[in-house]
Order: sequence, then C-alpha cells, then structure tokens
Amino acid sequence: MGDGETRLLRMAELGYGEPVLIARPWRTRLLTIMIRTANRASLVQPGARLFESQKENPMKRNLLSLSTLPLVLILVACGAAPEPTPEPAAEAPAPVAEPEGPTRTIVNITGDLYRAQNNNHATVFLVTEEGIIMSDPINRDFATWLRGEMETRFDQPVRYVLYSHSDFDHASGGEVFADTAEFVGHENMLEALAEPSEMALPADVAELDANGNGEIEPAEAAGNLENNFSLFDANGDGMLSGGEVARGPVSDVYPPTETYADRLTIELGGKRVEMFHPGPAHSANMSVLHFPDESAAFVVDFISLGRLPFQTLNGYDHDVWTGEMRAVEALGAEYVIPGHGVVGGTADVAEHRQYFEELHDAVAEGIAAGASLEELQASVTMDAYSGWLNYEQWRPLNVEGMYAFLTQ
Ligand SMILES: [Zn+2]
Repeated sequence: MGDGETRLLRMAELGYGEPVLIARPWRTRLLTIMIRTANRASLVQPGARLFESQKENPMKRNLLSLSTLPLVLILVACGAAPEPTPEPAAEAPAPVAEPEGPTRTIVNITGDLYRAQNNNHATVFLVTEEGIIMSDPINRDFATWLRGEMETRFDQPVRYVLYSHSDFDHASGGEVFADTAEFVGHENMLEALAEPSEMALPADVAELDANGNGEIEPAEAAGNLENNFSLFDANGDGMLSGGEVARGPVSDVYPPTETYADRLTIELGGKRVEMFHPGPAHSANMSVLHFPDESAAFVVDFISLGRLPFQTLNGYDHDVWTGEMRAVEALGAEYVIPGHGVVGGTADVAEHRQYFEELHDAVAEGIAAGASLEELQASVTMDAYSGWLNYEQWRPLNVEGMYAFLTQ
C-alpha cells in the first residue's frame, strides 16, 4: 500500500450532488475528483473542505447529518430494507417542493476506474476500449440511469456485470445490461436464486397470515414483505409462499451466466479484474473485486470503512471474518471501495478488523466474568471508535451480535 497513506472520502451522500468529504486529520491527502450528478458537474478539491471541517469533528458532523435522515435510510444500509423512499419527519410541515429524487453520482477513483452511487449504495466500473466491466447494478431504476450515463460519457457498452453477492439491494436490475453483458458471480449465487422451495411460512411471518391460508397476501404484508412484495413474489401470483419469503426479494436479480468457485480473472480491452471468493462472510456467495493495475479493491457488506459493522453482525464467525479481512489487507490496495459509505485504503480495512478483534476480546472477557448482555452493552463502549458512523445506533447491537456468537 505504498506510503501507508489512506483517505476517507464521503461523497455526495447527504445532499444532492453536494460533496461531503471526511478524512481523519492525521491522514489527509489532496485528491482531485470529478463529481458529477444527474444535473451538475463540478471539479472538487477535497482538501480545502477537509481542512475547513477539521475545526469541528467531521465524523460527528456527519453523524448529526445522518441522524436527520429518515430511519429507513439507516436501516437500508445492508440488505435488510428496501431502497429508501424518504418520508418527511412527522413534525415537519409537508414540503411544498417536488419530491427529491435519489442522489446519484459518478466519481473517478483512479485511471479508468469509477465509483457510481445510488443514495447509500455504491458500485464500481472500469472503462476499457472494448467495453465496460462493472460490479453490482443495485436496482433497475439506477441501472437504467447508469447505462445512460455510460453511453453519454464513454460511448461503451457494459460487457461484464460482476456481482459482489446476491442480496437484492445490490444485485437487482442487471437485466438492463443483458443485451451486451456477461454476468459473473460466485457459484453459490445459483442456490440463493434458485426457484423457491416448498415450505411453510417462517414462524415470525406466519403471525401476519390473518386468514390462515398459509400464504401472505398484499393486505397482510408488512415491513420488507410489504415494501418489496413483487420482488418476493417469484411466480407473480400475488401471494407469498413460505419458499418465496425464505428466498428473499431477489426476483429482479439477473442470474449469473458464468460462475466460479475460488477465483477468476476477467480480461477486456487490455485491462483486468480479479474476482475472488473470500469465504462465507455476510452471505455465502461473496466476491471481492481486485483491480491490480489500479491498486483498488471493491468490497461489499462484510467490510465497511469509518463505520460500525451492520447491526447484529448477521452470519458473523470471528475467525472466518477476520481471516477474510486479512485477505483483503493482503492485496495492499491503495483504494478500498466499499458498497456503502466512505472510500479508504488498506489501513482502514485493518482498523475495521481491529474493531472486530477488540469487540470480540472485550465481550469474551465480560462473559468470562459473568456479565449479562445488558451489562456488556453498557460497559463495552469501544470509545476509540466513537467517531465512526452509526456508533450510537449500532454499538449496542454489535455487542449483542458478538455476545450471541460467543454464547451460541
Ligand atoms: Zn448484503
């Protein structure tokens, strides 16, 4: 990773096209980035803003900004919730202005590698003379927008869609590129996208089945089932079976046309992307994309930078996850680009791993001393990370997830 310098950029997530940039004061660096939004283009020198914002804690500032967003935007961060439709705060008067569209940006990372963002979700793409290699399509509406932008700016078709994993909030909408692209994913994606199996409604969902017919109708659906009803409804019969609920809202995920087991190199127009399966973190079909010539890596959901891990660490296994984080560190990438949040470097991945290790040790010690979960949620404060995003909301949930892992 060269001189060990890293950067954290938070780009245009919190205001329409307005870059909000964050870096830790002891690790700042000037980067010239091109930020374009649907209706504006600007050349930004982050450094000026960075130094300006050092007077206050930029992380805190950002947390405050985040806390004003609807809760649904926070919940959407990792696969469990639908694309947010911002709602006005209950106490606020109804806005007169027309509703805001999603915040979408395309930012050049380095060379011909770009990060494209749809609200809180991000993907990457690499432009070559023979077409574009991209990662997650995110959703159909975004993919349609992105295709238009790519045609306008680069006049190149998408030749490859490389999936980070099968979760609907990252993998939906790929059909938009199906006329020109191959779709590549880890082989376990096929099982995740297979036809729903015959099974009863899961217990928590069966409670919604008011008429007791063993399926969920639109009037009975709530939460994620309600918000993404048609994406759950694989056979389009207007009812959700147990198998459809268990499979998840993946009906608009275009299946991989090519799969791999351990690693795969994609070459196009003299450029290359290495795809590898780090193991079963967050989902059973994770892929990391490594761009060796750009010294960049794209990682989704099992690593985030400058932000606490998602809620209760679903699927967490300490040795497996930390090993996978070390595998990403071993790439030595100058740019580590996550599917949510800020762009950083290898040192930020190491900090994320250290967070897990310190959380693990603190909770394990507490359990050995006979502390209850509630006591640990109060005492394991992880103060060194109080500047990270979602510290207030997710720290107690992280403790809960670690406690469950250590006591299961
Ligand atoms: Zn996910």
